[in-house]
Amino acid sequence: MANKFTFYNTLSRTIEEFKPNEEGKVAMYTCGPTVYHFAHIGNIRTYIMQDVLIKSLEYAGYEVKRVMNITDVGHLSSDADTGEDKMVAGAKREHKTVMEIAQYYTDAFFKDFDAVGNKRPDVVEPATNCITDFIEMVETLLEKGYAYVAGGNVYFDTSKLDDYYVFSSAVEKEQLAVGVRDDVEEDSNKKNKTDFVLWFTKSKFEDQALKWESPWGEGYPGWHIECSCISKRHLGEYLDIHCGGVDNIFPHHTNEIAQSEAYFGHKWCNYWFHSNHLNDQSGKMSKSKGAILTVSLLQEKGYDPLVYRFFCLQSHYRKPLVFSYDNLDNALQAYNKLVKRVSELKADGEVDGAVKAEFEAKFLEAVSNDLNTSMAITVLYDALKADTNDATKLALVDSFDKVLSLDLINHAATLAEAGTSVDSDLEAFINDAIARRAEAKKAKDFATADAIRDELLAKGVEIKDTREGVVWTLV
Ligand code: AMP
Ligand code: ZN
Repeated sequence: MANKFTFYNTLSRTIEEFKPNEEGKVAMYTCGPTVYHFAHIGNIRTYIMQDVLIKSLEYAGYEVKRVMNITDVGHLSSDADTGEDKMVAGAKREHKTVMEIAQYYTDAFFKDFDAVGNKRPDVVEPATNCITDFIEMVETLLEKGYAYVAGGNVYFDTSKLDDYYVFSSAVEKEQLAVGVRDDVEEDSNKKNKTDFVLWFTKSKFEDQALKWESPWGEGYPGWHIECSCISKRHLGEYLDIHCGGVDNIFPHHTNEIAQSEAYFGHKWCNYWFHSNHLNDQSGKMSKSKGAILTVSLLQEKGYDPLVYRFFCLQSHYRKPLVFSYDNLDNALQAYNKLVKRVSELKADGEVDGAVKAEFEAKFLEAVSNDLNTSMAITVLYDALKADTNDATKLALVDSFDKVLSLDLINHAATLAEAGTSVDSDLEAFINDAIARRAEAKKAKDFATADAIRDELLAKGVEIKDTREGVVWTLV
């Protein structure tokens, strides 16, 4: 591990060199999805960037163990511990049981998660599997004086901490404190405005579908406790990296730290990796905002999910990213060109070890520099242009794809098998026609879409919508 692996740590608000607790090993925790609805492409952006982080760490020689929870209970419609449980609302909406809803949307989540080339976490743990762990942690927090019972619920007492707003600068702390004070939905049981619920009882939510016996009466856990406990169950008392989207910073991760550090009596997690949001033109995407744009839906429109991954990798994880079909179409063109370029490589001669090592070092430098994925892609383009033989270039594509996961070699082989040797004018025409057809399908103008298909056929080009996107062959 000669290289320094660096990324932005929300805790120190600086780009830091990563140093794990145990040499060569990484204990990583990821906040998983709430499974009351489909995961939108914004959620999936977050998981793509985490996947790249993991694979980059592995590329650098680390062994990563990653744990993810599934929030199938306890996440209320407001982060301020108020409102209806999202799972219960989902079940009511769809006339299903809460567990049916959870299973259905967990499966849908992983379908999209896999389709964009992500590696599954080593452990996936639904919150409802760990109720006894939650009760044990809440009991200990009560014993240690960090929690209190009021109005049938158990609350975490944030005034017992030296620094509750660990993630924030002095200015932000002021603003957050004001924001919390201004919270309209007041819970009179709380001693401090920032206190949060560890365990709800039936005294507060009569219609909660899932309830468990506890020392405080029949009830269910708060949202934050699940991540502290699931992380502890599978990764122990010390965590290297905790991941999530920027919306998780407050209150979720702030409260996770409060619980875990009060429970363990020492610092818990050293690095916090937060990726920024995907927005559409009208603002942030959200599950509760009606129509949900999913990876599966993009696939139905003819886009290869890996084109969406490529789109995400082209920009930096800490910047907000705006989604539009025009932007996605640009990524599609670039991806197709890349695949075409790779398909032209012939596995001739021997790999030049020195050139390969040189480019691999550049690639590693890019990803270990706060996960500079667009630079990593530039290194790939540079390698394809380099003054070396095709065997070396192919070896480099294969090597970089361990992190990028764009399935370039397989896609190139499919393209080569299709026997597509056409002149560049025809190729430009085909690409343009495919883009126009995608637009037409998006606008539900199927007559135009069919006409474009016929137009292509007239030029001897047949197109097919496959799981991998639109594929064309000469007939
Ligand atoms: P949720 O299922 O809502 O808990 O979200 C799952 C993950 O997606 C969390 O890590 C969120 O921080 C993240 N997330 C939520 N909205 C967005 C968005 N618009 N863009 C990117 N990530 C998001
Ligand atoms: Zn979490």
